[in-house]
Amino acid sequence: MAASSSSTEPSNIPDYEYVDVNTKAFHVGSFRNEWLNRLKPSDFSFQQQDEDAFDANFAQEMGVSAETMAELKSLCSLDSLRCHPDDEPPDPDLVPPDSTLKTLVQRKKKQDYSATLKFFKNRHELYADELERLTVGKKPESMTDMVPEGELILTINVYYPASYERFCYVRPHMTLLLTGSHSLAELRDAICCVSDLQVCGEFSNTPDMAPDFISKDHFKSAFFFFEGVFYNDMRFPECQDISMTTIEWAKTRNFPPYSQAKMEETLFADLKIKVGFPYLYCHQGDCEHLVIITDIRLVHKGDCIDKRLYPLLIHKHRIVTQKCAVCHVFIGRWFTTNDEFAPSDPCLFCDKCFRMLHYDAEGNKLGDFLAYPYVDRGAFN
Ligand SMILES: [Zn+2]
Ligand SMILES: [Zn+2]
Repeated sequence: MAASSSSTEPSNIPDYEYVDVNTKAFHVGSFRNEWLNRLKPSDFSFQQQDEDAFDANFAQEMGVSAETMAELKSLCSLDSLRCHPDDEPPDPDLVPPDSTLKTLVQRKKKQDYSATLKFFKNRHELYADELERLTVGKKPESMTDMVPEGELILTINVYYPASYERFCYVRPHMTLLLTGSHSLAELRDAICCVSDLQVCGEFSNTPDMAPDFISKDHFKSAFFFFEGVFYNDMRFPECQDISMTTIEWAKTRNFPPYSQAKMEETLFADLKIKVGFPYLYCHQGDCEHLVIITDIRLVHKGDCIDKRLYPLLIHKHRIVTQKCAVCHVFIGRWFTTNDEFAPSDPCLFCDKCFRMLHYDAEGNKLGDFLAYPYVDRGAFN
């Protein structure tokens, strides 16, 4: 796309002062160019600014003299916070008992409180911490894996389908960061949804066959719908254009004409979208997710700039998982009906308990029952 000149097309600039919840539609790539035309390269460079130049700028902007700046710097320096002997490495967990610094007093309080707790963190919090530790401000080892300076970062919320009544009242979602050079197909692949893992059928005679029937491998069609365009996934020969039904339907009912494109050939920078507007992702025929792009900005040197970690998951809603009726420990993987061994009908089992209870050592089915694979909504937790 051509870089916009200084006579800007108003449609290329998102109107953040808009009183409604979303901006007007704008072209993502042109928006990036508008910014790059207006900024100095140093504004979006990953290079650390020279310290003296930074100090001089800072002093000038704050209207303070060089002496005041030097004094401020020494008072606010990390060295003035030292509370351990010079020759010992700092221990960040050790808070001096008689500190007067308010932040340390608070920290001590927090430490004392968490020491009284029985459990520290659950596995979700540990996972979230780990995710953050691995990605925040992450630099790649090789320059070729570096997100280029001046690249766009889009924040995208993908909501869970409102197919469960509970989800009509809360809006659980996952939040992903993608760059302007990612294709819509890459967003599709990053979206975890249980309906992709669903296995349809009764497998009590052949439980080992169940993984061969995962929906994702059989029904590959999907589309995104942005601003009147259906972006279909056509990467595989078995993909169908599932937007056609809607387009034909709309034609007979005086809707404005809709068009089609391929999601694997469309980059985010090519899109024309509204920030904050609910769009649609549809897969497995009728599993419909709202997709909202909540922010578009230039990449910053403090961002994760390792390309390989994108699409970057930064938030994931947690769902309570359904546990096995026998061990109450593992997540349910099978449910059975007409089952003489089960305490209820239907009954949920983890894989281990299911097999121990329903098959002999040779794997022969015991008794009469029907077994269906079950995919828990919290399977991606
Ligand atoms: Zn889905
Ligand atoms: Zn179990």
